[in-house]
Amino acid sequence: MPPEAETTPKRRKRKPKLGDTRHLFAALREHLASGTASLADFAKLVAEGLATDSSVIYVTRPGEQLELAATFGLNVSAVGHTRLRVGEGIIGMTAASGDIMNLADAQNHPRYAYRPELGEENMASTLAVPVKRAGRTLGVIAVMSREARVYTPLEVEALATVAMLLAEILAKAGATDVGEEGFSETLPRRYPGYVLSSGIARGKILPYGAAAPIARLLTDDPEAELKRLDKAVEEANKSLDGLIAGTLPGGGTPRDVLDAYRMVAQSSGWLTQVRDAINDGLTAETAVDKVARNLRERMRRIADPYLRERLADIEDMVGRLMVALGGMAPKPERADGYILLVRRLGPADLLDWHSRGIAGVAIEEASPSGHAAILARALGLPALQVDRGAVEIAQEDDPALLDAEGGTLILRPEPEVVQVYDRALEARTVRAAALAAYRDLPAITKDGTEFTLMLNVGLAMELDQLDKTGADGIGLYRTEIAALAAGGIPDVAGQAAEYGRVLDRANGKKVQFRTLDLGADKLLPGEASMGEENPAMGWRSLRVALDRPAILRRQLRALLLGAQGRPLSIMFPMVATVEEFRTARDLLEAEAARIRPAPERLEAGTMLEVPALLFQLPGLLAEADFISVGTNDLMQFLFAADRGTPELVDRYDTLSAPVLELLEKLVTYCQEAGVPLSVCGEAAGRPLDALAFAALGITTLSMSGNAILPVKAVLVEADLTKLRPVLRELRRAGAAGGSIREPLAAWAREHNLAI
Ligand code: PEP
Ligand code: MG
Repeated sequence: MPPEAETTPKRRKRKPKLGDTRHLFAALREHLASGTASLADFAKLVAEGLATDSSVIYVTRPGEQLELAATFGLNVSAVGHTRLRVGEGIIGMTAASGDIMNLADAQNHPRYAYRPELGEENMASTLAVPVKRAGRTLGVIAVMSREARVYTPLEVEALATVAMLLAEILAKAGATDVGEEGFSETLPRRYPGYVLSSGIARGKILPYGAAAPIARLLTDDPEAELKRLDKAVEEANKSLDGLIAGTLPGGGTPRDVLDAYRMVAQSSGWLTQVRDAINDGLTAETAVDKVARNLRERMRRIADPYLRERLADIEDMVGRLMVALGGMAPKPERADGYILLVRRLGPADLLDWHSRGIAGVAIEEASPSGHAAILARALGLPALQVDRGAVEIAQEDDPALLDAEGGTLILRPEPEVVQVYDRALEARTVRAAALAAYRDLPAITKDGTEFTLMLNVGLAMELDQLDKTGADGIGLYRTEIAALAAGGIPDVAGQAAEYGRVLDRANGKKVQFRTLDLGADKLLPGEASMGEENPAMGWRSLRVALDRPAILRRQLRALLLGAQGRPLSIMFPMVATVEEFRTARDLLEAEAARIRPAPERLEAGTMLEVPALLFQLPGLLAEADFISVGTNDLMQFLFAADRGTPELVDRYDTLSAPVLELLEKLVTYCQEAGVPLSVCGEAAGRPLDALAFAALGITTLSMSGNAILPVKAVLVEADLTKLRPVLRELRRAGAAGGSIREPLAAWAREHNLAI
């Protein structure tokens, strides 16, 4: 493209206003349709359309460089010469961070880099937008004005759309990406991440979701484009209906999850934005792409994992629309044995890919509490969240290992590594068979201590685990999970039906229902986070329930109705004082007095997850029918260490003197008062932790389904009388509060315990 541009811009007084975008797009459309399109003309139209004094277009070059490719209003002779490193100056920072920069006084920004040949001395304000496509940064476009001003949201939005159009033009012209150079496509690569659903898979990689360059960007016939969009929405809905009609292996249909997804994905809000963009002059696929980009941008900034996940649901729909509009290749019929690698994945797509036979999935943007993760666990599909970058680097059919236990995706692994994993996979098969043998054995240690091993459950489809593992019951039924998956709390009849079904499936085994534990990271759709500084310690869970008791009353009524006279155990979360517990229990008793048939036996217990409760034990034990320790929250409050902060994950350990001391005292108090005690936090499902808890006298443990047999196998082979003096000694030696995990694990291995 010939680098030509005017050097003497006319001063313009006019400020952009609503409606200008349409003119700008119309001008760009004519320009692109003329067949003689140049980047210089593009730069001119943009500066004029946005009423700024100058504009620049930089494109990325190998070696993490950005090169001036066109300008309007600055020295054209700098085109092809001026270069900035990625990260250097305002332009370089925009490319490096991927964020838009809107500066009233760019030259006084600490990172400003002066390039004398450009002639930008008179320019005060800069608006710079990265030019990105499929996650790659292809360049930067910026507009500048003499006047020191902050650009309006409308102007920012318009330049962001222009950047998107430019990305398509550059992609078609074969632009390179910032990070590409110097990378060998044959070397092994490791991407760390965290486990969403545990397991190991070995197979070929299937990167999916990169859209082909959009052939037609702009339109002069919005009506026709709106019709295309409507047709695509219809097709996408049809494909979704087909999916929802399907069933999961094991008989359970994850309707609750999928219906919630459908509600979000079809919500009119974002489709209205797509229609608006079409009316502005974009083609249907460009408009969908544009709105999706905005969503992604918002997603990057949202800290709340639940809300992030709602946006991922919309991404699912975006993918379906792009396929229907011909802007993205449809999924392959079969993907047997493949490891899917995607940037984002909603629950419907996860199910879809599962039915096509994938062996595992790596997702760049996902959270363990997200729907996709919940579904992957329910399906037993190994799933890993991986660091960003894998999607860009991976080539289809690259050999790969998905280690959703250790938490790594290995692309093109070395043969020795493959061998190690093959051996591990073989050993797992053997171990799974060996573990299955424990299912029907009584949970009794070598020294004759009997254990009760129970399940933590959140969705009805997890109830299969009762039979699969031979668990003694459900120690923690997290009622809020179904509400989160359904996108709201069902009415009393709906809740009663759910609780009744759970009791039916438990078939006489004990179930401890926990009342709604919402708030902090567990927000219902439409329920904005309150912006508290410490939401985990905020107005959440039982605190909300006691201040606004109607929801709790309804839930208690539903539990009593669902029980239909059967024994009922109810547990309250986040109790901090005996008084709170008493108020909650009084509400339960008031509801119970009104409902017939009354449960054969009604128990009210409490989670112990707030340390203050430890100092009210005599009062608590006089009133609570049982106590269950939630180590997840107790650890975070005990050590003042947020449970969602990755840097703190290994810093404090349940296997440390202060925690073991606390648990030991609790056991003594509970035994004296004759109040049953259990542990239901994640720690209960780790064999070594379970062993230590057992040695302290905790004989009821509740955990996720996949932990039951490994924990049972260790307990059945253990002799607690031998362990106790060792543990006492380790606690003495570890009195400074550090972890005693390593020496305890060494002892366990010496005694052939499979921890
Ligand atoms: C806990 O805090 O340990 C617990 C079991 O509850 P949740 O993980 O649901 O907060
Ligand atoms: Mg908790």
